[in-house]
Amino acid sequence: MLICRFAPSPNGFLHLGHAYSALMNARLARAHGGLFLLRIEDIDRERSKPQFEQAAREDLQWLGLDWPRPERRQSGFFGAYRALLDGLLARGLAYPCFCTRGAIAAKAAGARDPDGAPLYPGSCRDMTPDVRAQKIAAGEKFAVRLDMARALAEIERPLTYREFFEGDTPQVMTARAALWGDAVIGRRDVPASYHLACVHDDAAQGVTDVVRGADLEAATGLHVLLQALLGLPTPDYRHHRLVLDEDGKKLAKSKGSKTLHALREGGVTAADARAMLGERMGTQF
Ligand code: GLU
Repeated sequence: MLICRFAPSPNGFLHLGHAYSALMNARLARAHGGLFLLRIEDIDRERSKPQFEQAAREDLQWLGLDWPRPERRQSGFFGAYRALLDGLLARGLAYPCFCTRGAIAAKAAGARDPDGAPLYPGSCRDMTPDVRAQKIAAGEKFAVRLDMARALAEIERPLTYREFFEGDTPQVMTARAALWGDAVIGRRDVPASYHLACVHDDAAQGVTDVVRGADLEAATGLHVLLQALLGLPTPDYRHHRLVLDEDGKKLAKSKGSKTLHALREGGVTAADARAMLGERMGTQF
């Protein structure tokens, strides 16, 4: 059975781009007699707020969506994520990184990962076990990074996945994980990162089709590598176009793009919102 999920981070109100993503998910599930699930990606304990989670639920219901199972909240699974991290550390495929953001930016010399963040120069990769142990004993905070070169060497073969974009015919894509360098898989504050929690949960929820915005397409290479390392299945991917604002820029919570919450409060109906998306995207829901 086809299983897909909409996975908002409750750090702001949802906007029309989220509505498009949720509707694309639900439409796919409906077309295949499958399941549409909701996952709350709240590993960021500082930025996640209950009022945004509640508003997301209400926005989705307002759009006419429902999900047959209780939503999964990532903050309830830190133990499971920690076990994955410990496994990768024990296999020598990950290592603790004590660097501050400033130190990384200074050493990255302008190199960037696909998210535009300074590419990690590998400073902590070859730290001796003694120095590492001393730092940990002294209570120094650390993130956990994937050792990309070792991870790729362990897998050996080129990794691929099936990509449908918004259509019905899959293309076989090469997973380009190396672009991320030694990516953070465990943050300083919590034993997970978006990438690790996402691949763990997609597998735990039995997700067969990941429907999400094109802004996450580059992350897929890293996700496919993590799945291979962790022995998890690789779902099919369906990255969709992003909804742009009047200036052709990506909608963003941080830019105060018109939220679904504000549209609702302003008396816009779900039918109006669907029509707006139909007009902008040429996709009828
Ligand atoms: N939580 C992510 C976001 O709100 C989505 C992650 C995903 O669909 O894989 O952008």
